[in-house]
Amino acid sequence: MTFQDLNLIAPLLSALSKQGYSEPTPIQEKAIPSILQGNDIFGCAQTGTGKTAAFALPILQFLHAKKASGNNNTGIKALILAPTRELALQINESFSAYGSNLQIRHMVIFGGVSQHSQINALRKGVDIVVATPGRLLDLMNQGHVRLNAVEYLVLDEADQMLDMGFINDIKKIIARLPAKRQTVFFSATAPVEIKRLADSMLRNPVNVNITPVTATANLIKQAVYYVSQEKKKPLLSHLLKDDSIANALVFTRTKHGADKVVKDLNRNGIKAEAIHGNKSQNARERALKGFKSKAIRVLVATDIASRGIDVDKLTHVINFEIPEQAETYVHRIGRTGRAGESGTAWSFCNSEERIYLKNIHKLIKKDIDVIKSHPFS
Ligand code: AMP
Repeated sequence: MTFQDLNLIAPLLSALSKQGYSEPTPIQEKAIPSILQGNDIFGCAQTGTGKTAAFALPILQFLHAKKASGNNNTGIKALILAPTRELALQINESFSAYGSNLQIRHMVIFGGVSQHSQINALRKGVDIVVATPGRLLDLMNQGHVRLNAVEYLVLDEADQMLDMGFINDIKKIIARLPAKRQTVFFSATAPVEIKRLADSMLRNPVNVNITPVTATANLIKQAVYYVSQEKKKPLLSHLLKDDSIANALVFTRTKHGADKVVKDLNRNGIKAEAIHGNKSQNARERALKGFKSKAIRVLVATDIASRGIDVDKLTHVINFEIPEQAETYVHRIGRTGRAGESGTAWSFCNSEERIYLKNIHKLIKKDIDVIKSHPFS
């Protein structure tokens, strides 16, 4: 399939070829025609699937058609909500790239910086606003943003927004939008709270799911350590004392668990940092930067906080707990062994977690080696 087959207009097609995109990704193939037909979308997809273009291209096409037909309504016509400043900036850059041949004005709004330039940009008039919920609501309450002309709403990484405690802000923002609008809802996972939120916002949505690639799991050296819950921390310190481990991303199920693991590692002389939704944006950025630059050797993360973490030459992924969803396992270990590099994934499994391990075996269609000889077996 080509982008032409998706009925995109010429200015978008030429922008895409300038980006070097030769064909649509699976999510783009599924979502773009459906959005262009006016449907609401419930999309389950991770970063890296090309989901930004999947919603940005149809929105640019709609807004361009409106302008071309002489509709010069001022006011914000599309609103994109994203959980973090980095993601909001990235989406805004995507609008610049894909909209480079169109006269559609867009801007980004996020907290932690002065609001003056954001207010000035709003005054000049914009068609598309990409925003994090907190600052947007703040500007709305001060009377700087009116959302009564919004026709397209996108929620990106909805599960992360819930994890970061944005649910009430999101509800307040949505209450101020016209009821008649088209809504695109993206989330990497679909737990009950997410389904409930989506149900409250979407009208007869079309479901678009991108299932994870299990193939990568075959290229990574995987092993499991059977160990009781109490002995997991000593086992982790024991393994990480091996200096030949260049860097390791350790996954815990909870934020509290991540903090406890970091504390224990530090006590044992192993420098580690945690990254999760309770940490400030600055703390998370600092930890991530340190890990990427190899200044920090061990990063302990929850699944949602680790989303989008793409580290060059990550040698080890360690599952401190076995994830309940087998797909999560595949996503986690897929962080290592990228671009033909070798990667290792270790999983700590207590007796209650064996059932999850069984499901993982079923999904990846192979057994994982068991390391029997370790001091905490
Ligand atoms: P996203 O999942 O939206 O964050 O996109 C992941 C990456 O894929 C970004 O760097 C995009 O620029 C890139 N990308 C998006 N669509 C395509 C495509 N059709 N072909 C090649 N690269 C793409």
